[in-house]
Amino acid sequence: MKTAFVKESSIISVDETEKPTLGSGDILVQMHACGICGSDLEKVYGQYGQPSMRLGHEPAGVVLDIGSDVTEFKKGDRVFTHHHVPCYDCHLCDHGNETMCKKYYETNLLPCGLSEEYVVPAWNVSHGGVLKISDSLSFEEAAMIEPLACCVRAWTKYHYQEGDSAAIFGVGPTGIMHVMLAQAKKFSKIFCFDINDFRLDFAKKFNITESINSMNEDRKQKILEHTDGRGVDVAIVATSSVKALEDAIDMVRKGGTVMMFGVPSKGAKLDLNMSAIYSKEITLVTSYAASDKDTTEALNLIESSQIDVKQLITHTYSIIDSQKAFDLARSGDNAMKIIIIK
Ligand SMILES: [Zn+2]
Ligand SMILES: [Zn+2]
Repeated sequence: MKTAFVKESSIISVDETEKPTLGSGDILVQMHACGICGSDLEKVYGQYGQPSMRLGHEPAGVVLDIGSDVTEFKKGDRVFTHHHVPCYDCHLCDHGNETMCKKYYETNLLPCGLSEEYVVPAWNVSHGGVLKISDSLSFEEAAMIEPLACCVRAWTKYHYQEGDSAAIFGVGPTGIMHVMLAQAKKFSKIFCFDINDFRLDFAKKFNITESINSMNEDRKQKILEHTDGRGVDVAIVATSSVKALEDAIDMVRKGGTVMMFGVPSKGAKLDLNMSAIYSKEITLVTSYAASDKDTTEALNLIESSQIDVKQLITHTYSIIDSQKAFDLARSGDNAMKIIIIK
């Protein structure tokens, strides 16, 4: 079977690998679709990527084989598989911080999601890390469960009301998912910021209030005009840009929330006007990854057609062409979600 690895900085090699052996509680899955995520790009092109790093954590596919103790799944089941599953028993899990759990980081797919076949460990299989998907759901859509789940989790971390306004900074695939969630939650005004014209135009298809270039000098003024001079209720930063975080703090209303969703590059530093944050009573929240509650909710939203993730998929590649797929994902040229398919 073939598996994609980081060979050296910016270079992916797709190598023939040994089939992992199957433990009694494990299942073997044939990958049919796996999305490329910003964190995968960081591993390939980022400063901190290491050779042989695992790629792909959004896979969906068909169960090829099951261990002798597995009863919940059978060969032929169509499934989404979550790479990390927490312990549900520690102090952090008890407090709803499942994605901070030690076990969460220790669990993983073998060798990784960007592989023709992969093993899901027994812990994941028996603790909600594998979700059966209906026949009507395509594997490409199922590969969007994980990124949507991360967005769903972010929305559990702050308060909002029907009719509220939101600004989304960075409208790549997850930025647009936040747009769709804001609409599902009946927000009255949604502003999209980016520096990529393709993405700004793409966002316009979603019946938003306005798409604004992040370099536009009047950008804050536009927000104030639409919000009676207040600023937005919720500002979601769905990019690694710390400049966008500054804008979010500047454009959120008094008492509003800034959600740090995008992954800042390692060690990123920011000079913040803390007295402005204090006197505006801004809530700064972060959200990392997703728990099984979130993946289940994401699957529900997709299967019930409340969130149509299909429209975000602009390109598919076979695993052999992983390098091309990653290069395109990195450039963002006329691309939103890029998926590796069987
Ligand atoms: Zn991801
Ligand atoms: Zn735990």
